[in-house]
Amino acid sequence: MNKNKETYGRAKIIPVFLPNQGCPNRCIFCNQKEVVGTSLIHTPREVYPLIQAYLNTIRTSWQKKWPGFSERIEVAFYGGNFTGLPAEVQQEFLRPAARLVSEGQIDGLRISTRPDYISEAGLELLASFGVKTVEVGVQSMDEEVLKRAGRLYSGHQVTRAVELLRGGGFIIGVHLMVGLPGEGPASRSETIEKVIKLSPHFVRIHPTLVLKGTELERMYREGNYRPMSLDEAVEVCKEFSLRLMRSRIGVARIGLQSVPQMQESESVIAGPFHPALGELVASSIAYERMEELLSRQQSGRLEGGNKRQIMILVPERELSMFIGHKRQNLNRLRQKYCGWQICIQPDQSLKPGELRCVEIISAPV
Ligand code: SF4
Repeated sequence: MNKNKETYGRAKIIPVFLPNQGCPNRCIFCNQKEVVGTSLIHTPREVYPLIQAYLNTIRTSWQKKWPGFSERIEVAFYGGNFTGLPAEVQQEFLRPAARLVSEGQIDGLRISTRPDYISEAGLELLASFGVKTVEVGVQSMDEEVLKRAGRLYSGHQVTRAVELLRGGGFIIGVHLMVGLPGEGPASRSETIEKVIKLSPHFVRIHPTLVLKGTELERMYREGNYRPMSLDEAVEVCKEFSLRLMRSRIGVARIGLQSVPQMQESESVIAGPFHPALGELVASSIAYERMEELLSRQQSGRLEGGNKRQIMILVPERELSMFIGHKRQNLNRLRQKYCGWQICIQPDQSLKPGELRCVEIISAPV
């Protein structure tokens, strides 16, 4: 297994959705049936054929697209509070999936759960079926925000849950929500600082959406909740991502995965929904990095009277991310450094994440 902490969240996931199963109550923002679709509720008996069907798709589709495909494939029990289910029900779900692991058809199992439903005995059960990754819905480290969201646990319980998971040798994922009622900059800052201290292997960041049929929808319609704008969400997710990346904690996903059901049933009433939010954030980070590079260039050598020509070299596969949606990043840079000629070019020799700035000096005529 790849031991680089920043890559832990990455695997091809076969999701088995158990919408709201095992939940002690309904959190104010949550309506899993709207997000994943009622047709995706699974009983233990459906697990084995469902995974087989996914695997067939993977073999015929993914491997055709990427012949050298060798990424990990994991089965994930998502959409509910897995460890809130009775132990025998957990076993019924895990047994067929564990069989596929022992047959070598998939590489591992993961579950999602809440911090207040993690116990030593519960983790022993998961480990006995080969669960390697546990994704914990922390959402916030501000207890007031948690209370208002209908999640009645403390920061201490989150810390304890992560300690137990680490002690049990699990790969730990943390889910965070930004834009919950009662949250502000101080609360967000507290959350990200505390989560970094917990040092999970990876984090998923979800801006809060107002989903149909939730308590949050009622609050929104009564004027008691204002969701973040898309720009605010991109800014906050960027801030979180940068801080996590600097601490070498992987960011596995930003924003909800868009499924056709969400668009068909108009599940999202309000909030910063975007089908490619992660790409918007990545592009915004890319802009900052180029801007930082150019500002250093600015304080360096200046050509007397000549128009400066700057070429920013980026990895070939990341070119569109650096240029930005509708050339937004390039246009912003050109506006900011209006006396310069700036272009962004691919460079095959650069590794992902690398970039370089070259000043083109024209020979005197
Ligand atoms: S957010 Fe998680 S714990 Fe809360 S209702 Fe939804 S699935 Fe259950």
